Amino acid sequence: MDLKKFVTIVEDWPKPGIKFKDITTLMDNGEAYRYATDRIVDYAKQRNIDIVVGPEARGFIIGCPVAYSLGVGFAPVRKEGKLPRETVKVNYGLEYGSDVLTIHKDAIKPGQRVLITDDLLATGGTIDATIKLVEQLGGVVAGIAFLIELTYLDGRNKLDGYDILTLMEY
Ligand code: IMP
Repeated sequence: MDLKKFVTIVEDWPKPGIKFKDITTLMDNGEAYRYATDRIVDYAKQRNIDIVVGPEARGFIIGCPVAYSLGVGFAPVRKEGKLPRETVKVNYGLEYGSDVLTIHKDAIKPGQRVLITDDLLATGGTIDATIKLVEQLGGVVAGIAFLIELTYLDGRNKLDGYDILTLMEY
């Protein structure tokens, strides 16, 4: 299936000059959403995944159906102040300033094999921070899966050494 047919390019959003990749038109098509999910599930099955981890909010949309299909759990990574119990945190750089991502301290057991999911790999900052959270808890990042990779931003370089699947490249 040509998944790109289901991605809508929105010009000049959220700012002039940005061509935003809107995946909601992939998600709201049952066949396309299932096809994309199944490709990630196939990838995950070869990597003995114990738990799926994804950053809010689109990482949940990709990761939760994959976890369900694998029969493993899902642990959310969220912005600071959103998770109710003890967390570990990491600062990460944004285009302007920085932000903090957190995960519950007991979400991952040492040695568990983790699949990280998100919708899109841009500079890699979000997933680099997510990797740091997983590794702080002793998890092993066994794979990272995205729907989309913006190859011109070279996020893959930032995630050097990790096993990455992307279903579409722009
Ligand atoms: P990075 O941290 O620079 O790799 O940015 C990735 C994050 O930005 C992901 O969580 C995406 O949800 C979001 N993002 C950046 N550009 C786009 C886009 O064109 N479409 C959808 N999400 C985007």
